[in-house]
Amino acid sequence: AITDALPQGTVELEFEGALRPTDLAEFVGQTRVVNQLTLLLKAAEISQRTPDHILFAGPPGLGKTTLAMIVAKESGRALRLSSGPAISHAGDLAALLSSLVPGEVLFIDEIHRMAKSAEEMLYLAMEDYRVDIMVGKGVGATSIPLELPPFTLVGATTRTGLLANPLRDRFGFTGHLEFYSNEELTTVLSRSAALLGLDLPEQALDEIAGRSRGTPRIANRLLRRVRDYLIVNPQTDSLSAVNAALALYDVDARGLDRLDRAVLAALLDRFNGGPVGLSSLAVSIGEDAETLEAVVEPFLIREGFMIRSPRGRMATAAAWDHLGRAPMKTQAT
Ligand code: ADP
Repeated sequence: AITDALPQGTVELEFEGALRPTDLAEFVGQTRVVNQLTLLLKAAEISQRTPDHILFAGPPGLGKTTLAMIVAKESGRALRLSSGPAISHAGDLAALLSSLVPGEVLFIDEIHRMAKSAEEMLYLAMEDYRVDIMVGKGVGATSIPLELPPFTLVGATTRTGLLANPLRDRFGFTGHLEFYSNEELTTVLSRSAALLGLDLPEQALDEIAGRSRGTPRIANRLLRRVRDYLIVNPQTDSLSAVNAALALYDVDARGLDRLDRAVLAALLDRFNGGPVGLSSLAVSIGEDAETLEAVVEPFLIREGFMIRSPRGRMATAAAWDHLGRAPMKTQAT
C-alpha cells in the first residue's frame, strides 16, 4: 500500500508545494546559480545589508519560485508573492510596495508581463526605495513621494530578453537556470517518491527522469501519475506501471508531450520542415507564440529536433525520424 509522508487530505495541487525543497541543501543541481546565490546571501548577511535584487531566468518548472522561497528562508526574511499579470497598473504595485515590511523579499513571477506604468515605478523603487504616487489629473496633478522600506526584489522570467533593458540592469544578479540532467532528475524523483510513500527501483525513476523534459515540475507530475496508476493497479510491477501511466498521458519515449508533437508535426507537414516564423507556426496549431517560445521551443532545440535559423524555425533530421515521416526535401541536420 502507498502511504505518503504528506498529511491526510492533502489536495492534489498542494503536492507541488509539498515536494518543494525548502533550503539550498535540498535543492538539486543548478550548481553555478546556487554558488553565486550563496555568495550573494552570505555577503549580505555578514555586512548586515538587504540582499541585492535578483532575477531568475529560465523555462517554467526549473525552480525559480522555489529559489525565491529559499532566498527568503535562508536570509530569514518574510516573503511576499505576486506576479506580473496581477500588476495591471501602477497602483497595484504602489499598494504592494507600500505594504512591505523592512527587509522583505518580494517575488514577482512572470515579471515581464507587468504593466508598463508599473515597470517604470519599479525602477525608482528598486534603486532608491521610493515611489512617486500621482494624485489628481490634468494640470492639478501632483506627485507625492513615498519612502519605502528596504526590500529585495526577486523577479522570475522565462527569458531575460523579454525584459526592458532598464529593468534588467537594475538587478544585481541574474541566475540563468538550465534544464536538468537525467541524473539530477532521478535525485529529485527519489526524494519526491519518498515523500509520496512510493518505493520505486532506480530503473523506474530513471525511466521517468528520461521523459521529463529536463524539468523537475514535469518529473514530479509524472511521478504522481505513476503513483495514481499503482494505487489503482497495485499488482503491476513498477516499470510496467511507469510505461503504462506515461503512455496514458501521451508522454513518448523521448519525453515529448502532445503539444511538442503537434508543433513538430505542423512544422513537418504544413511547412515541409521550415523555415517558418514562430508566429505562423503558433497560429497553425492554435497556440500562443509566447508559450511556444518559452515552453516548447527550448526543449525541442535542446533535444535536437528543431533549430532556429535567421529565416525561421527548421526541423532537423531527428524530427522527421522521430515522427516517422520521410523528408520531402533536404533539411537541416
Ligand atoms: P518555476 O518557478 O521555475 O516555474 P518552481 O520553483 O515552481 O518552478 O518548481 C516547480 C516544482 O519543481 C517545485 O514544486 C519543486 O518541487 C520542483 N523543483 C524545482 N527545482 C527543483 C530542484 N532544484 N530540486 C528539487 N525540486 C525542484
